[in-house]
Amino acid sequence: MDDKQEILREFADRLLPEKIRSRLESAAKTLPGGRVLRAGKTSQGRDVWMLTAGNLDRAVLYAGGVHAQEGITSEVLLLFAEYLQQGMEGENIFLVRRESFWNRAGLVLLPCLNPDGILMARPGWQANARGVDLNHNFDAGWEVCKKWEEEAGILSPGPTKYGGRKPFSEPESCLIKRLCNRRKFLRMIAFHSQGEEIYAGHGEKCDDTTATLGQLMEKLTGYRLCQPSESASHGGMKDWFYDTFHRPAYTLEIGKGCNPLPLQQAEEIFLQLRKLLLLFPLL
Ligand SMILES: [Zn+2]
Repeated sequence: MDDKQEILREFADRLLPEKIRSRLESAAKTLPGGRVLRAGKTSQGRDVWMLTAGNLDRAVLYAGGVHAQEGITSEVLLLFAEYLQQGMEGENIFLVRRESFWNRAGLVLLPCLNPDGILMARPGWQANARGVDLNHNFDAGWEVCKKWEEEAGILSPGPTKYGGRKPFSEPESCLIKRLCNRRKFLRMIAFHSQGEEIYAGHGEKCDDTTATLGQLMEKLTGYRLCQPSESASHGGMKDWFYDTFHRPAYTLEIGKGCNPLPLQQAEEIFLQLRKLLLLFPLL
């Protein structure tokens, strides 16, 4: 078995929906207002779980596991849940007391949007089980994205970059739409790998608040704020969130190397992102 296959199998085993649920429930029990809820189901009927905690009138969204080669993003978000569970190592978070943190901050943590794709454990396969790239399926410059796909010869379902027959054709993208419409998040981060990069706003659209916050995120992580490549400029979760709610939205390309990044890198990546993950809800 080659390395990639082995890495993917390891994630497929770790990221079974029931295991995700159980890890989130352990964390939820220890957090103010902590609950684990089903955000929806995938095209193959698997549950997509999320943890909610704190002041949900002021919640931010962290979503990972969008692409099937990026199980590392799910693992990093689960490590964050476990870090919260352990009491964040001490009473204060950067001079903010724990109680006031949870009064001020609300969190919705959805570690794995695409369990079907991740459980396929097929090298090179980024899409959901129906061969739709979820990050091309959101209604934000979808037609531009489709034109790029056609020029690149991507005309039908497959491993990567096919955006579907229409925006929101997939249950996974629809559940994010439903969740965001209901919760009115202050801001959000979609987690991808890899490159240690931050993308802000939608394509070239990025207001001052979103840009300034992006610069702060650079400082907190050591990642680089930059423009995504053409094929990743439209149709994504953060693009749709930014266009729809006019609130800060980011993609974080976590870690460095070649996808799929191995499980062993999760801890180190988490430590590099920990400050950001804690402070983002308070900003
Ligand atoms: Zn990705």
